[in-house]
Amino acid sequence: MNRPHATPAGVFSPVTGKSLANVSQKDFAGYMTRSFVAATLIFLTFFAPASAVAGEQWEWPLDGHEVGREFDLPDDPYGAGNRGVDLRGQVGDPVRSVAAGEVSFVGTIAHVRIVVVNHGRERSTYQPVAATVQVGDAVTAGQQIGSLLGTGSHCVDSPCLHLGRKAGDRYLDPLALMARTRRFQLINPDGPPPPPPIAEGGSFRRPVGGPITSPFGMRVHPITGVRKLHDGTDFGVPCGTPVHAAASGIVITSEFAAAYGNRVILQHEGGLTSSYNHLSVESARVGDRVQVGDIVGNSGTSGLSTGCHLHFMVEKEDKPVNPMNWL
Ligand SMILES: [Zn+2]
Repeated sequence: MNRPHATPAGVFSPVTGKSLANVSQKDFAGYMTRSFVAATLIFLTFFAPASAVAGEQWEWPLDGHEVGREFDLPDDPYGAGNRGVDLRGQVGDPVRSVAAGEVSFVGTIAHVRIVVVNHGRERSTYQPVAATVQVGDAVTAGQQIGSLLGTGSHCVDSPCLHLGRKAGDRYLDPLALMARTRRFQLINPDGPPPPPPIAEGGSFRRPVGGPITSPFGMRVHPITGVRKLHDGTDFGVPCGTPVHAAASGIVITSEFAAAYGNRVILQHEGGLTSSYNHLSVESARVGDRVQVGDIVGNSGTSGLSTGCHLHFMVEKEDKPVNPMNWL
């Protein structure tokens, strides 16, 4: 049976990927001698219904919601990548538990101070953090567990919190649970207004209504018969339907391009582009600045298309990503 309270043997160095069981024997021993109250909590946590244990959403651990580096799990367990997300913050910022749980590890691993909170099926990890909690403490969602340290951070240019999400030994994307929460940025009252933050989950607006007639993903092309990546989301709308910019940006392409037909491409913050394909009319010109919701064209069936629809694409650093992750 799994130990739901995650002994430190379940903690792996985010740098080497190695088990850190040896590092934390002392903490574990301390943990084992804790009070009956803690033991009762473990029992309740483990035997409570699953929905009450893991929670479907995580709160942001910092007051600021700026993502420095996203989750990027390497294929090789020792390879480079990012086994969590880096959230930008300031030294001393309060660090809060993303969900209710129990502190299962507080210690230093490879010179980095780490806090781990067990939520039942999953655990959240926080580093570098000066802990204000102890192993065995029960915490609520949003409860402060420590403060952000300036040393031992992943980020070179500014302090950041590395937040990890683990189920057993598997690393999962924390943002997948946080995407739907409201996000905001701290702004300098003396500076210019910052661009709206663009991150996965709700930061793009749907360019048209209509049903999704073909999702992003591998499919057999309806015309060529070839199985390949369908690199966008198709919305079924009549020809001539106004197509709106999914986010504010600059028009970098407005032209006819073979398979995509008449297309408009917008450049956004954060290495993102959105494109609107098979249009009947392009009404945006290269160099135009558009605001979210502005009309960039009308839907059509130009290019390699079987009927009127909008093929909406989002690319991140020139790689197509699932647009629905951004809507
Ligand atoms: Zn399509």
